[in-house]
Amino acid sequence: MEYDYIIVGAGITGITAAEQLANVYDKKVLLIDKNDHIGGNCYDYYDESGILVHKYGPHIFHTNNEEVYSYLSLFTTWNVYNHKLVCNINNTVIPVPFNLISIDKTMQDDNQKITTALLTEYIVNDTLPLDKLKESKNPDIQKLVSYVNENIYTPYVKKIYGVDPEKICEVDGVNINITISYDCRYYQDKYQAVPSNGYTSMFENMLSNHNINILLEHDYNDIISIDLENKKVYFNDEEYTGQLIFTGMIDEFFNYCYGKLPYRSIVYMNETVDQIHFQENASIIYPNDYHFTEITEYKYITGQHARNTTIQFAFPTDYNPKYDETNIPYYPIITEENRELFRKYEKLTEKFPQITFMGRLCNYKHLNMDEAVQNVHDVLFRQLKHEIDEEYI
Ligand SMILES: Cc1cc2nc3c(=O)[nH]c(=O)nc-3n(C[C@H](O)[C@H](O)[C@H](O)COP(=O)(O)OP(=O)(O)OC[C@H]3O[C@@H](n4cnc5c(N)ncnc54)[C@H](O)[C@@H]3O)c2cc1C
Repeated sequence: MEYDYIIVGAGITGITAAEQLANVYDKKVLLIDKNDHIGGNCYDYYDESGILVHKYGPHIFHTNNEEVYSYLSLFTTWNVYNHKLVCNINNTVIPVPFNLISIDKTMQDDNQKITTALLTEYIVNDTLPLDKLKESKNPDIQKLVSYVNENIYTPYVKKIYGVDPEKICEVDGVNINITISYDCRYYQDKYQAVPSNGYTSMFENMLSNHNINILLEHDYNDIISIDLENKKVYFNDEEYTGQLIFTGMIDEFFNYCYGKLPYRSIVYMNETVDQIHFQENASIIYPNDYHFTEITEYKYITGQHARNTTIQFAFPTDYNPKYDETNIPYYPIITEENRELFRKYEKLTEKFPQITFMGRLCNYKHLNMDEAVQNVHDVLFRQLKHEIDEEYI
């Protein structure tokens, strides 16, 4: 088959691109991934004990974007699920983001003064970043800021990233807001859910068009070569003149010519326990104690009923692909210096009109699933709208 498009990476970005190209734009597509499964970081599967787990950490679909929610609903029904995250501080379990319940549970001597100060200075139900609260001149609010900083934010970010939080410009993996209410939901979005039969099943439905061929367990470097100087793409040693969509690491694509973009990785360890539930909440984070940062119990997220349960420990670690194939890039370490380095790579992409660079690894940033999907829709529509029948636009 002659491919109009070759897509590197079968994560949600590559899968959405393949689906749109085949179903909307009538293109022939080859989707390549080095993993032995589709779905990238959003992949889920039933483990040996029959529990549906997310291989790369808990993924909750949340959005206010009607278009993306309607689009994905073509391929799945949903289990509505409002994620709640709690934090274990000295064996007291409190909601995160920090809210009025968290204040009551941890700052018993000052809780009333702090709550009054918050309700006087801000609007009830507001969710505010910690940095915004730092601007307040009220000493009770400053006490709260110091408490959250010292007990949650600083140790947790240090544990996840392995560097001083001061150096990091964009933090992912912990919501550092303060919610001025008793609302314990982690996200405030209108739609919060997981696909009823899991993400992988949703992705399989997205890829059902016979014009999509999938090649797993293939590193693109083994079948595609890029002549960076002459801006040519070779596929199986022959020049390929179709379009390439690349969703892998941008620094790898350019042979690390300016150096490596640093990431942090996570080792996930799963354990099935012979009891109905292991803990009281889907995810509990541990900013201060233990080497792991989080324990997730998937049955709370998926709504599955079973006599046993699977829990997952998250151990943050350095990113180094030489360790083993499970050591993958999770969190970009976005410091000023690394941002500059990324911009240099981004500039190089402009010289390759045959190639579209998309997804979290090409943008060196955290993208929620809804943002990743919307981005693909926007880019392909910009590039190909002239091919759609006017009446459908
Ligand atoms: C711990 C964690 C939790 C998250 N939780 C949420 C959440 O709750 N809700 C939410 O909306 N978002 C969440 N996200 C973000 C979500 O994972 C991303 O939106 C999504 O993964 C982006 O998809 P992508 O296709 O751009 O990248 P990826 O999923 O990383 O896909 C890239 C694909 O490219 C492949 N690839 C890379 N290099 C090569 C190569 N050399 N050859 C062949 N293939 C290659 C990879 O194997 C991978 O399959 C979370 C992210 C992390 C890290």
